Amino acid sequence: MAIMSPKEEIMSRARGAFLGLAIGDALGAPAEFMTRGEIASKYGVLRDMVGGGWLRLKPGQVTDDTEMSLCIARAIASVGGWSLPAVADNFATWLRSKPIDVGDTCRRGIRNYMLKGALETPPNEWDGGNGAAMRNLPVSLFTLGSEEMLETCTLQQAHVTHNHPLSDAASIYLGRLLHLALDGRSLNQMRREVEELIVRFPNFVFDPYKGLATGYVVDTMQTVFHCFFKARNFELCVIDAVNQGGDADTTGAIAGALAGAYFGEEHIPARWIKKLDKRLVLELRELAEQLVRLSPAFN
Ligand code: MN
Ligand code: MN
Repeated sequence: MAIMSPKEEIMSRARGAFLGLAIGDALGAPAEFMTRGEIASKYGVLRDMVGGGWLRLKPGQVTDDTEMSLCIARAIASVGGWSLPAVADNFATWLRSKPIDVGDTCRRGIRNYMLKGALETPPNEWDGGNGAAMRNLPVSLFTLGSEEMLETCTLQQAHVTHNHPLSDAASIYLGRLLHLALDGRSLNQMRREVEELIVRFPNFVFDPYKGLATGYVVDTMQTVFHCFFKARNFELCVIDAVNQGGDADTTGAIAGALAGAYFGEEHIPARWIKKLDKRLVLELRELAEQLVRLSPAFN
């Protein structure tokens, strides 16, 4: 990276990214698997953390998107660096705790680790879900300043459960976008990064937006790009993402992380932060700072 933003600014963006992820998750989870029309008739526009949904959540409650991200973040923070076994152990502990929601591909991969110690699942055409991308934010924070580390750590954590070229590409490019946002780069620079992804993998083209917001990583990323690049602020970005329905908590989480990194913690509405568990907010802020402090950008 050529010019590094002041460290305090990067910290605010890092905290914003991790809080944004949890906020998008908690806001979208009640609408998960609903259609755009069902959300509109039930809520008008979903803009507050109402709870409920198919998981019968409490208002402000987060799901696997935030919890799996925490598994990775805590592993890095406790080791003081990268350890794939520590990440996988945290996934296993999390799965044993009977989480409220687990994707099928994630469950299969983690079980495979628990039973056979396998840290990598073989390539599988059915692994094109968004489960690896949704939890990659901590890797982006920890590898700030090194594209090479980003790629290595991303692929390692992703392949514990998902081994698919489109999942890999989405996870890596999401990491690169987060790096640009954390460093205070322009929307144009971020847009150019997405254009590069689209040249390599045309599936990700998002303009015109097809309106699919499923758990397929291509649909998820199209939705995130569509909402992020037209949003004027954090709030509009996340509201737009979750109101597309489908995998609303996951599109919300990824869009929230990206928008939080781009706009910074100060631009996240206080009414949403207040709805999250207070200990969770403290931990997300603390971990975001710890991971960035461990990154090449700070060392
Ligand atoms: Mn979820
Ligand atoms: Mn989801």
